[in-house]
Amino acid sequence: MFESLSDRLSGVFDRLTKQGALSADDVKTALREVRIALLEADVSLSVARDFINAVQEKASGQSVTKSVTPGQQVVKIVHDELVHVLQGDGDPGALKIDNPPAPILMVGLQGSGKTTTTAKLAKRLKERDGKKVLMASLDVNRPAAMEQLQILGAQIGVDTLPIVKGEDPVKIAKRAKTAAAMGGYDVYILDTAGRLHIDAELIAQAAAVRDVAQPRETLLVVDGLTGQDAVNVATEFDDKIGVTGVVLTRMDGDGRGGAALSMRAVTGKPIRFVGLGEKMDAIEEFHAERVAGRILG
Ligand code: GDP
Repeated sequence: MFESLSDRLSGVFDRLTKQGALSADDVKTALREVRIALLEADVSLSVARDFINAVQEKASGQSVTKSVTPGQQVVKIVHDELVHVLQGDGDPGALKIDNPPAPILMVGLQGSGKTTTTAKLAKRLKERDGKKVLMASLDVNRPAAMEQLQILGAQIGVDTLPIVKGEDPVKIAKRAKTAAAMGGYDVYILDTAGRLHIDAELIAQAAAVRDVAQPRETLLVVDGLTGQDAVNVATEFDDKIGVTGVVLTRMDGDGRGGAALSMRAVTGKPIRFVGLGEKMDAIEEFHAERVAGRILG
């Protein structure tokens, strides 16, 4: 995660902290390099611009150049601003899954990692939070996707709703709700169908399921490797369906990190989890402080 951005920034800050005394121009030059590094990491233009302006303002306001350790002061300001851009107004806290059975709706494009994330999340809720979880696949167009969830369920020891041929997604969602209530489940996770692109049918189907299930959380799964596209997908899903949080997958890959940095600022929605591999344990809660620390090395 963030290796190339992190490398670039540590180069800039190493020079800055070694320099001792700093002029306003030195700071400006360093921030110009930070801006380029952000843009190369595929952070959206407006987010990068606002970021640099905020840092610049704080750096001049705190008369950084007159301080004893000016370079470190600049790094601290950048760190705090990273935390701010990553978490917006605050930490979203834990998933809202009180009041059993609590429905969680998983939405996203095909191939984003939705089914894998559904199972990872179920395993986490079971093992860390001691929840009894039921998973149901609503992907009626792709029987293989339904079977995939069943296989993952067996692997992690989490129940899946039995597959009944010929049902539509709304009917399956209703059946999941009843089964979850009757079976004493704490949480049931609905894995909706994905498509390669956002189209009217995908949205209509997800909206119909949402209306029936009344989810406590609607988590959008997006591929973190797709950078600004991931942010655009999130904006569209949120406009059309309303999401409560985002899961960024493939953050183990050599993605440039831009999706993580722009997501909150552009969509206003918190990143709740990051996917870090194909294995069932490869999921982590998203913590702005930790991520900012990682970016700054
Ligand atoms: P869906 O079509 O959105 O349900 O996508 P899948 O859950 O079937 O995932 C598609 C592929 O991406 C599978 O091969 C997954 O193992 C893989 N995948 C999912 N999440 C991650 C992740 O965080 N990191 C990596 N490296 N691969 C992932």
